[in-house]
Amino acid sequence: MNNIEAVADVIAAAKKTIIFTGAGISTESGIQDFRSPGGLWEQWNPDELTFDKFMYSRASREHYWGFSRAIWPTMRDARPNIGHYAIAELYKMGKLDAVITQNVDGLHQDAGVPDEKVIELHGTIRWVSCLSCGKRWRREDIEKRMDKTGEKAPECECGGFLKQATIAFGQSLPLKAVQEAEERSKACDVFIVAGSSLVVYPAAQMPIIAKQNRAKLVIITLSDTPHDHYADFIINEKTGPTLTAIGEEVKKKLKK
Ligand SMILES: [Zn+2]
Repeated sequence: MNNIEAVADVIAAAKKTIIFTGAGISTESGIQDFRSPGGLWEQWNPDELTFDKFMYSRASREHYWGFSRAIWPTMRDARPNIGHYAIAELYKMGKLDAVITQNVDGLHQDAGVPDEKVIELHGTIRWVSCLSCGKRWRREDIEKRMDKTGEKAPECECGGFLKQATIAFGQSLPLKAVQEAEERSKACDVFIVAGSSLVVYPAAQMPIIAKQNRAKLVIITLSDTPHDHYADFIINEKTGPTLTAIGEEVKKKLKK
């Protein structure tokens, strides 16, 4: 039996499957990994985009929005790939407890996983929120407003600063999302890492939590991860074709 079949067996028998996704699944949709060589963090200095600087000066907020608007068109136009659709298929088969993602692109929802099944640890680029009162707007609406008014660092009617609803460097993660991710990681029977190099914390803690609570751990990624020695299965292949193959096997097994 190969790894694909073995993993499909585990999923078919599991009550709760968690899929944990990172940049690797979205690169297959043309979204660059910010951390990769030639990635965004080589074009935009992350030290100039920290949460502290954003709060401290208007010039920094304008700089942040310049960065934010530069990456938006790629994010807006990106479409889910076969990996996202394979995960949505697992949901349709009743085999997905939740997706925990480090990605901010909203592509799991576009592929058909309902919002309440997607835990976005690093927020979402699809929304803009007020840092004072918490009011939210769809990103498109803020883009239109900025085009029309020429604002470079938009503010809320309450006077608070508006920011894309992702987590900036030095900004705390959404507590509710982190807690939910931890609880679901504890309770799952199988935890599948897809396209994450597992180096960013606390996100990278989730597979460990799952493993400590006796879940089977599957890691699908092109590069090594620091948690490979915990894994029950390691598949060093692209996430799209691998998740598709696993999904097809699960479907066959469920039909039997
Ligand atoms: Zn406000």
